[in-house]
Amino acid sequence: MREQPKVLVVDDEESVVVTIKAILQLDGYNVATTTSGAQARAMVRDTEYDLVLTDLRLEDGDGLDVLKAVRESYPETVTIMLTGYASLESAIQALRAGAYDYLVKPSEVEELRSTVARGIERRRLGQELRQRVAELADLNASLQQRIDDATAELKERYEQLKELDRMKSQFLSIASHELKTPITAMSGFLQVALRRVGRLSEGEVAAPVAEGLRGITEQLEVVYRQTGKLARLVDELLDVSRIQTGRIEFRYGDVDLSELAHEVATRMQLTTTAHEISVRRDSENVVTADRDHLEQVLNNLVTNAIKYSPSGGAITIDVRPDDGGVRLSVTDQGIGIPAEELESIFGLFYRSPDRAARDAAGMGLGLYISKEIVVRHGGRIWAESGGAKGSTLNVVIPRVPIGATKPDVAQASAARR
Ligand code: ADP
Repeated sequence: MREQPKVLVVDDEESVVVTIKAILQLDGYNVATTTSGAQARAMVRDTEYDLVLTDLRLEDGDGLDVLKAVRESYPETVTIMLTGYASLESAIQALRAGAYDYLVKPSEVEELRSTVARGIERRRLGQELRQRVAELADLNASLQQRIDDATAELKERYEQLKELDRMKSQFLSIASHELKTPITAMSGFLQVALRRVGRLSEGEVAAPVAEGLRGITEQLEVVYRQTGKLARLVDELLDVSRIQTGRIEFRYGDVDLSELAHEVATRMQLTTTAHEISVRRDSENVVTADRDHLEQVLNNLVTNAIKYSPSGGAITIDVRPDDGGVRLSVTDQGIGIPAEELESIFGLFYRSPDRAARDAAGMGLGLYISKEIVVRHGGRIWAESGGAKGSTLNVVIPRVPIGATKPDVAQASAARR
């Protein structure tokens, strides 16, 4: 049960305080009274009342002083001023001084009860409001604490990830360099061995020996081809490592993309009989770019076009001018790329979860490397696909590399002269 509200009644007429006390007690208030202003001031300093009802004119002082004492000690206490007809102005003064309301004496019982009840209600609401505000402040503080904790945790995770990322780059760099050396040696020795075996079989040898040499040649060729694949994979890893450590370097010069496309198409056609690779070009399409790196991009795109159209079909390389640059589009009739993967395929190590795509070997590096090369030329690369009808990979290279530093380009044009 809620505590009885504490009310103090101050009036120098004993009969008035007694009457008011009786009325308010009936309404369930805990009523204290005094006829002295000085005592009233002492009482409101000692005790926190919910409501103080005070006469304006007291024999030994002023009701306004009682009001002031209340405000100084317990500013939340509600005060009501009692006043005679003649001093309406003083009542207004009391209101200005912070009284909640006033009653003109002699007041109706009902009016007294309802004014006091309203005052008490107002006090209760004020207290509730303050409690809510305090709760909100607490909540705010605990939220802030949680935000701070979460931020600290995120920071720590970020640092850990940064460290992991640094270690990954370091690993990539060391691993690819370390792998490169033995592979180069293996492929060199294999070439020598193949040549030697070739020469041996050209000489006068007995039939069973010739048969044996043929077998050895075939096996060596398989190993040589596999070593070549391994070397390309390691080269991709090296490229990623260079890109990530900012050590990729471009040598700019004039590159005719129509001619480059033709060259790549001719070379790649030698690797497949199931596909027909053609180039559509209307004219020369020259840009200032790094020829070797653009060749690598085109190689990647055509290799993918072959890899991801296992039933064969036409592969077209379109070369045409495009808004301040040249656009290369490689179109195949293969398995296509699902709409939701059109952007993610350019991510590092991205491989499609699709079964058909998984059948082809790869590490998911080709398009990542291609994108880096194109973007560093100030160009764009994007994929289009109509589902199972095949895909088109587009590249736009600006005539002059937008991202390149001036000395690079100056060097390129000096080299042209
Ligand atoms: P990889 O071929 O080694 O997986 P890429 O970076 O070259 O890596 O390609 C990433 C993914 O994009 C491939 O795994 C494949 O799912 C998809 N993709 C690329 N080119 C094509 C294409 N022409 N047709 C269909 N899917 C393709």
